[in-house]
Amino acid sequence: MTPLPSGPPFALRARILSPMADGGWLDELDGLLEVDAAGRILRAAAWPSGAEAPASVFDLRPHVLMPGMVDLHTHLPQIPNAGLGSGLDLLTWLDRYIFPLERAYDRSVAEHQAPLAFRAFAAAGTTTVVAYSALWEDSTDAAFAAAEAHGIRAVIGKVMMDRLTYDTEIEPGEILETSLRQSEELASRWHGADAGRLSYAFTPRFAVTCSAEMLRESATLAARHGAYWQTHISEDAGEMGEVARLFPQARDYLDVYDTAGALGARTILAHAIHLSAREVARVVETEARVAHCPASNLFLSSGMMPLGAYRAAGMELGLGSDLAGGPEISIFSVMRAGAVTQRVLELTGTAVRTDALRPLDWIRLGTLDGARALGLEGTVGSLEAGREADMIAIDPRFTSPLPNDDPPEAAEDLASRLVFRPHPNMVRAAWVRGRLLAGPPGPGGIG
Ligand SMILES: [Zn+2]
Repeated sequence: MTPLPSGPPFALRARILSPMADGGWLDELDGLLEVDAAGRILRAAAWPSGAEAPASVFDLRPHVLMPGMVDLHTHLPQIPNAGLGSGLDLLTWLDRYIFPLERAYDRSVAEHQAPLAFRAFAAAGTTTVVAYSALWEDSTDAAFAAAEAHGIRAVIGKVMMDRLTYDTEIEPGEILETSLRQSEELASRWHGADAGRLSYAFTPRFAVTCSAEMLRESATLAARHGAYWQTHISEDAGEMGEVARLFPQARDYLDVYDTAGALGARTILAHAIHLSAREVARVVETEARVAHCPASNLFLSSGMMPLGAYRAAGMELGLGSDLAGGPEISIFSVMRAGAVTQRVLELTGTAVRTDALRPLDWIRLGTLDGARALGLEGTVGSLEAGREADMIAIDPRFTSPLPNDDPPEAAEDLASRLVFRPHPNMVRAAWVRGRLLAGPPGPGGIG
C-alpha cells in the first residue's frame, strides 16, 4: 500500500463512521474524506461517481475513518504502573503505587517518558488527551514540549497539593504561593499554544490534598487565563469520608469546590461516581463537565456510576482512561468497562435496561461528547466539513472473531465490535489537523 500522507492536503477513500453535531451519524460504506491545506475537513461524504472523484486519493478500504478519541482524564507520571494494585482502596493505592512514581517524575524522566506516552495514546486512537502531570513545574514543561513536538492535542496541568504532599523539600509556608506561581507560569507559556492545540488546566489534585485557599486561588487563576480547572470528586468511600472530616462546614463534597468558585463550563471533574441528587443537579446547573472513568472505577473497586440517571439529568460527560487507576490506555477498553458496569447495574436493579447506552452511544461519548466537554465540539470530535482533521483509521478485521472475516456492515454492529472486542493493534493511523501522528503502525498489518 502507498505510504500514508504525513500532512495536508490529502484525500482518503475508506469507510467513514462519525457522530454528527446534529445528533445523527455519518455512515458511508464507501466514503471520501478530503482535508485541506490548513488541516481542516473539506468534505466527508459518499464516494462520488464519475468525474467528481479527486484525481489523487489514498485508498484505505476496508479501514474505517472515525474521529479520534478524547481522553478526558489521565495521569502521565503514573503510566508505568498501569495494571498494578487492583483492589486496594484509593488512598492506600496512591500512597503505595502512585506518589513514589510522581515524586520521581522529574524533567529527565518526563523527557524520556512523555514522548513514549503520546505515541502510545495515538496508537490507542486517542488524539486529544487531558492529563495531570506531577507536582513539578519542570517536568510539566517537558510534557508540554513533548506534546508540542508529537502533534497530539493536549490539555495538561501541574498537580497542586498543599496538604498531604509528596514534596518533602519545600517549606510548608511556601507551598501555596510556589504552586500558584509555577502553575501560572506554565499557563502563560502553554495555554493556547500552537493556535489552541495545547491548553493548560489548573490542577488541584482533590479536596483531600488541597486547602480551601488553594482551591479558591487556583480557580481564580484558571478564570483569569481562560484555562481549564480539573480535579477529582467522589471516587471512593475512604476519600469521601476524609473530605467530610476536612471540610466539616461543606454541605457535601461538591460544595467544597462550589464554595471555591471552581464550578463552570471549563471545569472537569473526574469520577463523580457517588453524587447525591443535589450534587447532580448542581453539576448540571453550573455546567461543570464530568470525566467518566469506568475502567478505573472497576479496577480500584471505587463504585459504579449511575450513568443513565446522570445523562437523563442533562450532565455533560465524556470518558477518561484515568491511567494508572485504569489499567488500559485505550478509550475503547474504557467503553467496554463502562458498558459492563451498566449491565451490572441493570442486573442489580439499580438501572433499567431502557437507560442502557448502545454501542454507538459509547462511541459518541468517547469522541464528540468528550470534545463538547472541553468546549471543542465545533473544532474536533466529528468528521464534518470545517472541523479540524483529528481522526483515526481502524482496521476492523482486527476485531473479527475469525481471521479475515468481513466486518459487519451495519454501523451499530461495527460499533459493537469496536466496543466489546477492541484489539490493541486495530488503530492503524491517527492524525491531528491532518498531520500524521507517530505511534500507530500504519495500514496493512493484518493481511
Ligand atoms: Zn485520576
